[in-house]
Amino acid sequence: MTGPHPGPSSASSTGSPSRSSSRSSSEPLHVAVVGSGPAGFYAADALLASEAPQVRVDMIERLPTPWGLVRSGVAPDHPKIKSVADTFEQIAAHPAFRWYGHVALGTDVTREELKEVYDAVVYAIGAQTDRHLGVPGEQLAGCVAATDVVGWYNGHPHFHDVEVGLHGERAVVVGNGNVALDVARMLCTDVAELNRTDIADHALAVLSASAVREVLVVGRRGPAQATFTTLELRELGALGGVDVSVQPAGVLDIPEDGLAPAVRRNLAALRVLAATPPTGTPGARRLVFRFWRSPIALEASDAGSVARVVLAVNEPEVAPDGRIVARDTGQREVVDAGLVVRAVGYLGVPVAGLPFDAAAGHIPHEQGRVEGGDREYVVGWIKRGPTGVIGTNKKDARESVARLLADLGAAGPRDPRPDRPVRLEAWLRERQPALVTDEGWHAIDEVERAAGVVQGRPRVKLVHTDDLLAAARRADGSWGS
Ligand code: NAP
Repeated sequence: MTGPHPGPSSASSTGSPSRSSSRSSSEPLHVAVVGSGPAGFYAADALLASEAPQVRVDMIERLPTPWGLVRSGVAPDHPKIKSVADTFEQIAAHPAFRWYGHVALGTDVTREELKEVYDAVVYAIGAQTDRHLGVPGEQLAGCVAATDVVGWYNGHPHFHDVEVGLHGERAVVVGNGNVALDVARMLCTDVAELNRTDIADHALAVLSASAVREVLVVGRRGPAQATFTTLELRELGALGGVDVSVQPAGVLDIPEDGLAPAVRRNLAALRVLAATPPTGTPGARRLVFRFWRSPIALEASDAGSVARVVLAVNEPEVAPDGRIVARDTGQREVVDAGLVVRAVGYLGVPVAGLPFDAAAGHIPHEQGRVEGGDREYVVGWIKRGPTGVIGTNKKDARESVARLLADLGAAGPRDPRPDRPVRLEAWLRERQPALVTDEGWHAIDEVERAAGVVQGRPRVKLVHTDDLLAAARRADGSWGS
């Protein structure tokens, strides 16, 4: 963004961002949290809990809606997990908290500007892209990233037009983490079940016409190395009209000595699935686990889209560091598949001007303080990489906020004038005239929930940015038509 600096603070208007007051100021610190997923909300919560110094929080989000992966990552058939959004709404109700949506870092506001107008900036921007397999054929139509599929079925406005080709009888999901399980489950679940969820309407329509009969979940290592959580494995046994298949030989006869309790629980859950007879339901879909297999090439149909996956058969090998790794035996298997979903991990993207560890996909930091940064902090996946469940972010955020408060606690706000919040909002509105406020978001929420009531669903999501903004405009009317 070019042009004159907005300078909502006296410090910035003189071009000098130096701290202008001491701790004696009765005004709170004003911190920007960029990103409104779980990590951002837990960071906001920890900041708002601080009494000395007191802190105001402006949360800035690029979408017109909050909650990050709780809205657009957690699978629609997991409403219990999504209910953590109630906690986020309680945090958002704090009088020192404001949420501002439809403001993109890097286009509407820059890192430099945020640093200048706020006392500190907390980046809670998650891991916004995905890892690749790095095999020939990966670019073919019909090979998609799980991040895109997840965004697509969850109605994320950037992913409504992802092509999820369900014309073939078999889909292959690569990866042995919870995202792979989510995608596999969504591809197998009866649409009558999904029709009770907040799944995006476009995804429901495509899934209703699905020709997929079998979903193969492919792991390059074995069940003892998989990162599934046990609850997610167990729930597969309760999926109506789905036969789950786990090859017992060479997979489940693993000696348990020395295995972590979580791994033992997973193996027990897989054994139960392996021992469960087929449902006998006519037309039942199959969800098949295939361990110790790595896709090494995707082959095309005459039409140029994915038709087959070449799998290398692996065997376990102990690496010098003691890890069990996959060794290619040289054997090959070829399976037909009309869709390949790579669920091999999310990946963070850099913020211009901040350091970035490209291999790990996160911003290097010390206890949450960005290495070499200036009053800049990280929380969540951009801090530690894409690991852990929603609750993991609580402790993670507390650590970064403790660092922030220790760093800034002795200094007062950069701008001690009491109308600072009003001027910051005016600045944000100047940068993004279609700014969505908490009130705008609540108008969206109301529209979606009301549509849900009619259909017996929790909500019917608006999936186009224009529609979201139009709904928000009812409350944020000041920015006109
Ligand atoms: P993940 O748990 O890290 O799983 C990634 C999987 O991809 C691993 O099995 C990994 O195998 C495999 N992989 C990586 N590179 C590969 C390659 N080149 N070829 C084949 N396989 C490859 O990540 P995730 O599933 O994306 O989940 C991200 C985080 O979100 C996790 O912490 C997860 O628990 C969480 N999550 C939780 C829920 C829930 O609680 N219900 C739902 C969704 C996600 P290796 O182990 O061999 O590297």
